[in-house]
Amino acid sequence: MNNMERDAPAFPSATMTTLRQPDDCKPNDRCLCFGLFADVHHADLDVRNNRYHRQALERMRRAVADFELAKVDFAVELGDLIDEAPTAEAELALLHEANAVFSHLPAQRHYVLGNHCVWSLTKQDFLEAIGRHASYYSFEQAGWRFLVLDACFRSDGQPYGLKNHDWRDSRIPDAELEWLAYQLGVSRLPTIVFVHQRLDVSSQFGVGNAPEVRRLLESSGCVVAVFQGHEHTGGYCCIAGIHYVTLVSVVEEPDPLGGAHAVVHLTPQAIKIQGYGRQSSLEFPLAANPAARNRSPESGTRTLEEDP
Ligand SMILES: [Zn+2]
Repeated sequence: MNNMERDAPAFPSATMTTLRQPDDCKPNDRCLCFGLFADVHHADLDVRNNRYHRQALERMRRAVADFELAKVDFAVELGDLIDEAPTAEAELALLHEANAVFSHLPAQRHYVLGNHCVWSLTKQDFLEAIGRHASYYSFEQAGWRFLVLDACFRSDGQPYGLKNHDWRDSRIPDAELEWLAYQLGVSRLPTIVFVHQRLDVSSQFGVGNAPEVRRLLESSGCVVAVFQGHEHTGGYCCIAGIHYVTLVSVVEEPDPLGGAHAVVHLTPQAIKIQGYGRQSSLEFPLAANPAARNRSPESGTRTLEEDP
């Protein structure tokens, strides 16, 4: 499996236009912006657990429209693009519907695997449907490096698929850890990580071997932020100088309260997260690796029997 995906961006190049440059971004600076959303859970299901599945696609349309207005360089969906259907074929149809909306964005798109993406489907089914060939991979743009991780593996190393897993049992297996260590060693570019399950908690929403993964990220000295989903209330903490941002889910809350997405601006000085809908705006200076050794309390943690 080739995990180095370097598809040429369909649109636009990394060159920033003045329209979307934050004030502190000078020409030739390492500036970039991208769109983010998580936990769409598109499905033809009645409301349950505060999830408004039938409103999810329209919320995605709004996200895509905002990304287009912001002229993002690329966009990332952080997993659980779809929810369950009676058959694998029906789940595949949901995936095609959701991807058709995401594909309206005239920019490069990235997909993080979530536990619901590979419930009835296999990873290969999912990847083929969206025209991708790897579930974890790296790419570089405008002097930044991005790593897309796949934590949809059971603790025994088996990949999720064909209804074989419990959503609380997530792990990044040894082969992916080796790949990650290699990727973090070959470049000194500032690095951003995307993953569905959380790497900053030890709760049921976290990756089972998150401490091991964090050690790799921390020892590299180049990872500045991790963007994740899975826990629908969202959350934030900083561990050892790395910012962990959990996006609020698209699917929860009735309209007009529902919907959550973000446009992230990267500059040499800061990460600026512009929140839309239920997603808060956040900003982190990058210069001095702030605060870093003090961890804030885990946020957004709750007991939830339904799989997120
Ligand atoms: Zn979810």
